[in-house]
Amino acid sequence: MKVLKFGGTSVANSKILKKVLEIIKNQNEQIIIVVSALGGITDLLMEMLSLAQSRKDNFKSNLALIEKRHLEPIKKCIPIQNQSSIISYLKKHLNELESLLDAIFLLEEVTVKNNSAIAAYGEILSSNIIYEILRYNGVKSKLKDARELIQTETYFEREIVNQTITVNQIKNYFDKNKSDVTIIPGFIAKNKNGVTTTLGRGGSDYSAAIIASIVRADLLEIWTDVSGMYTAHPKIVAQAKPIKKLSYYEAMELSHFGAKVIYPPTLQPIIEKNIPIVIKNTFAPQDSGTLIDNSINNENGEIVKGISHIDNVAMINLEGSGMIGITGFSKRLFEALSDKDINVIMITQAS
Ligand code: ADP
Ligand code: ASP
Ligand code: MG
Repeated sequence: MKVLKFGGTSVANSKILKKVLEIIKNQNEQIIIVVSALGGITDLLMEMLSLAQSRKDNFKSNLALIEKRHLEPIKKCIPIQNQSSIISYLKKHLNELESLLDAIFLLEEVTVKNNSAIAAYGEILSSNIIYEILRYNGVKSKLKDARELIQTETYFEREIVNQTITVNQIKNYFDKNKSDVTIIPGFIAKNKNGVTTTLGRGGSDYSAAIIASIVRADLLEIWTDVSGMYTAHPKIVAQAKPIKKLSYYEAMELSHFGAKVIYPPTLQPIIEKNIPIVIKNTFAPQDSGTLIDNSINNENGEIVKGISHIDNVAMINLEGSGMIGITGFSKRLFEALSDKDINVIMITQAS
C-alpha cells in the first residue's frame, strides 16, 4: 500500500487536477490519497477571518473568490449532468462559512475553536470536489473525513495527536475498508469533544505521514510543485538542484530550518516505522525527485547536502565578564523570551 499526498499547488485548478488524475490512474496497487486545500484557499480563509474580526465588512469579497476557485475544477472536470450535487454541497458550505464569519464580525472575537473551524473549510471542500472528479473520470474511490481518523488534544496551547485513539481509529477503518483508492482531507482533525482542530499550517504532509505510519505503507509520496528537496530554496537560489537521496535526519534538519517542502513534524512518525518518502513534482512526474530513507549516502564525499534558511529570525548575543561563574543568567534570559512567547531555534555558548 502507498500513500500519496497532493499539496495545494497540485490541486489548485482543473489543469493540474487533470495531471493528478493521470498520476492516480497510473497506480497499480492500493492507495490512500491525502489532499490539501486548493492552493491559496487557506490563506484566503485566514485573511477573511482577520478582516471579520477587525470589523472590516469587505471580508465577503473573499467568499466570492473562494466560490469561483472551487467552481472552476467542478465545471472543467465533471460532466455537466453530474455537477449539481457537488455545486449545492459547495454553496451550502459557503453559506455556513458566511454565517460563521458574520458571527465573528458581530462578536469581534476569534477563538482557537472558530479559527480551526474556518481553516478546515479548504480541505473539506477540496476533498469532496476531488472525490467527485475521480468518480466521474473512471476512478472508484472512498472518501473518508480525517476528523473521524485523527484525534488531537491540547498540550501547552498546541494541538498534538492523541496516538492511542488515532492508531485505533485508523486501524479499525482500514481493517474494514479495503477500497483500492481512499481519499482523505489533510490538515484537519477533531478533539475528544468533537470540535474540529488542525495540525498547523502546512499540516497535510503530517496527516499523510500519520496515516502512512499506521497502515504501514510501503511508501509515502509527497506530490508538490518542485522536483524534490533542493540544495537551497529553489525560488530564491537559481543554481539550486534537486537532491537525489537524503537520510531522514538530513531531511529533518533541512525542513526544521526552513525547507518548507516538508512540514517539520512529518518525518517523526515515518522514521519510527522506517517508511521511505519520495518527493515528486506533479508538474513534472517524470523527474525522479528526492528519496528520503534511513540510509546515509556520502558516496561523493558530499557531507553538506543543502542549505536552508528561515526569514525573520533575530540573534541575541548576551556577553560580559560579569557572568563568569555566576549561576542563573541563562534561566533569566530564556524565561524572558518564553514569557513573550518567543521561540528559540538555536542556542550556542562559548567560553
Ligand atoms: P505544497 O503546497 O505542495 O505542500 P509547499 O509550498 O508547502 O508545497 O512546499 C513546496 C515549496 O517549498 C516549493 O515550491 C519551494 O518554494 C519551497 N522550498 C523551500 N525550500 C525548499 C527546498 N530546499 N527544496 C524544495 N522546495 C523548497
Ligand atoms: N491547507 C493547509 C495550509 O495551507 C494545509 C496544507 O496545505 O498542508 O496550511
Ligand atoms: Mg506544504
